Amino acid sequence: MSHPIAGRITFNLVAGILVTVVTVIAGVAWMAYRQNDQAAVQTRTMVMGGIDAMHTRVQGLANDYSWWEEAYDAYQRGDAAWIDANIGTGIVDTQIADFLVIVSPDHQVKYGWWTPPEAPNTASVMSPALIGKIEDLIRTAPVENNAARSSYVETPAGTLLFAVSRIAPVSNASSVDPATLPLLAMGFYLNNQRLSELGRSFLINDLRLERADAVTDATREFPEIRDIFGKVIGRLVWTPPTPGFAVLRNVVAPIAGGLLTFCLIAMWTVLRARRLALSQALSEKQAIEAARTDSLTGLTNRFGFNELSASASFEEACARGEAAIIYLDINGFKSVNDSIGHQGGDALVGMLAERLSMILPPDARFARVGGDEFAVALTGRPALDAVAGVASAMVHALDQPFTVTGFQFQVTAAVGYAVSDGVDVSPDELLRRADLAMYQAKNAAERDAVPYHPGLETGALHRKRLGMALRGSIEANEMSVVYQPIVRASDLAVVSLEALVRWDSKEFGRVSPAEFIPVAEETGAIHDIGKFVFQRACQDMVDWPGLRMSINVSPAQLRDPSFANDLGAIARRHDVVPNRFKLELTEGLLVRNPTIAKRKLARLKSMGFGLSLDDFGTGFSSIGYLRQFPFDWLKIDKSFISELGTNPTANALIQSMIALGDAMDIAVVAEGIETVEQLQLLRLLQCEYVQGYYLAKPMPAAEISALLARLGESRRILPELELPGFDSSRSALNLQS
Ligand code: C2E
Ligand code: MG
Ligand code: MG
Repeated sequence: MSHPIAGRITFNLVAGILVTVVTVIAGVAWMAYRQNDQAAVQTRTMVMGGIDAMHTRVQGLANDYSWWEEAYDAYQRGDAAWIDANIGTGIVDTQIADFLVIVSPDHQVKYGWWTPPEAPNTASVMSPALIGKIEDLIRTAPVENNAARSSYVETPAGTLLFAVSRIAPVSNASSVDPATLPLLAMGFYLNNQRLSELGRSFLINDLRLERADAVTDATREFPEIRDIFGKVIGRLVWTPPTPGFAVLRNVVAPIAGGLLTFCLIAMWTVLRARRLALSQALSEKQAIEAARTDSLTGLTNRFGFNELSASASFEEACARGEAAIIYLDINGFKSVNDSIGHQGGDALVGMLAERLSMILPPDARFARVGGDEFAVALTGRPALDAVAGVASAMVHALDQPFTVTGFQFQVTAAVGYAVSDGVDVSPDELLRRADLAMYQAKNAAERDAVPYHPGLETGALHRKRLGMALRGSIEANEMSVVYQPIVRASDLAVVSLEALVRWDSKEFGRVSPAEFIPVAEETGAIHDIGKFVFQRACQDMVDWPGLRMSINVSPAQLRDPSFANDLGAIARRHDVVPNRFKLELTEGLLVRNPTIAKRKLARLKSMGFGLSLDDFGTGFSSIGYLRQFPFDWLKIDKSFISELGTNPTANALIQSMIALGDAMDIAVVAEGIETVEQLQLLRLLQCEYVQGYYLAKPMPAAEISALLARLGESRRILPELELPGFDSSRSALNLQS
């Protein structure tokens, strides 16, 4: 497996190793060469010193034999025997020098000795030119001891190193004319034997004189030897020592060992770093995978699902008209969490995911896109043909209850789906449509999957705009509260009021609560609206002592954990006792989450609030609910009242509802009374309380105050209205308000 980071690490480290190795090798080599160079300079200095020492030696010899009183006298006497015995024989016998000549002041060689015998004779070497040169050499030297001068001269037998000095009378040397003194020249062959002896003392094995004609480029740097005429004889050459290389030879093994160890460690580091980088890349990949997965269910999560729906393949499927999305939202899931805790909720979601997984086609992409929201993506013709069936099966998969922590749970879900019809539907649009259908399913009466259809659009758009407009409505003073009297049927006295919110929107004009309350529930605006209504009612009630107040509470409000506390605090702040309130609730909450509802209602009840079951008869209401929950009132829905007198079933139903309330000691209110006939019938059926346009319409607080003032102490509405068949005695007996 290759990875850019691993590759870069490998490259960097290998480059580092190479640079290190090359640097070390170059450094060591440089040091070796430098050491060689230094040694070469040193050797040259030593060789030059050695040559100087030879000159000094030959000069010393010449001094010894010439600064000699007896020798001067013998010469002046012309005593050849003395000279030969004391000077010539000394040379030949002791081999101190290879030759010795004495030149007279008139430029003639007076005496000459050469060794070995086969050496060239004096006459053939000592040409007048050479004699002249020798005289020149000493001319500037003073007459004194140690005044000898030395130089070289070429002979057929070899190169001579010689020194010349004047044979002088030591006693009066300063007074003699130098030109009158004979010269003594002596020296030895600078042969290779002598040179190698000299070289050995400096540890140079091959010190030799290279003839001028043999000088090559390689030897051009070596010191020149010139004869007395200034002509180049040749060069002193030798093989420079290479101590650097010797050192190099010694350190090569340890350095190579060190480098090898370094390389091995570095390679090991490279491999380790590579492995590390690769494993990191792998865990990165796993992390990305994990980021797409919902940890609870193991399904794809929202992020993964968004990726999927944005993928090119899904987009193509959409364009081909072969894609579908199904959304499923569990109803009232928050209250499940509230009742069995988050762990229980999680367990339920897990079971639900498992159950749904089983009924989905194998190639469906199933995702958990929210706490209680699931989505299914289907592609391909066959899957598409099955989508309606799959969506419906998802709804009914929840028919069987779930068992969580020993409790049985029945949950329902809203399921909506959308199919790409091939006419320019983008994945986003498809998602939106499925969401809209699901939204519709939430509000639909029947429990079945809802397919998207264009009819959903206008309503949805309008609701969206309503939701936006609702946001600032309280601050903009668009909300107000009206009150509708609730009247005792027996004597038509006002006993209570129902607070009803009104919204005069700048954008939409007056909007019915039936229209905007569901939207407010959805957007969460209901909480602020609810508090606003309750607060306003508290304020207004101060003027109407003795009257009770009904407040409508939607299930969403009740789900708010701080709801009861908030109400309590507001009532306290306005100095209104909770007993004066009746909270009107619809069945929705009770049906969906009985356990939670029971707990919440008990709490409100304990605080003193009265409870009223609103719109009784419209939902799944059963006597069971009434028994389970601590209601004080029940409100027969106005749909029954409107059919009163025309529909015999309605009559019977109302009659049994009233009987039920009687039996359970729950006060019964009939709402929506629009005609005198309805009122009369309800009184006949012995309904205890009535509410409706016929009696009083909802009106602002000021009008309520005016009405109450007009009605006086009795608070009786329509006191002039005498109703036939009304048994006032029964009413008076049963109902003390
Ligand atoms: P609801 O609680 O059943 O309220 C009774 C509705 O019937 C009110 O409509 C009232 O004006 C209307 N009504 C009263 N008498 C008659 C009549 O004789 N004939 C007819 N046809 N209707 C009558 P409204 O004010 O439009 O409220 C509609 C629903 O909105 C209410 O139904 C209630 O569920 C909800 N609502 C109103 N105000 C609030 C509120 O402050 N908070 C909450 N959560 N919901 C509210
Ligand atoms: Mg109501
Ligand atoms: Mg109602």
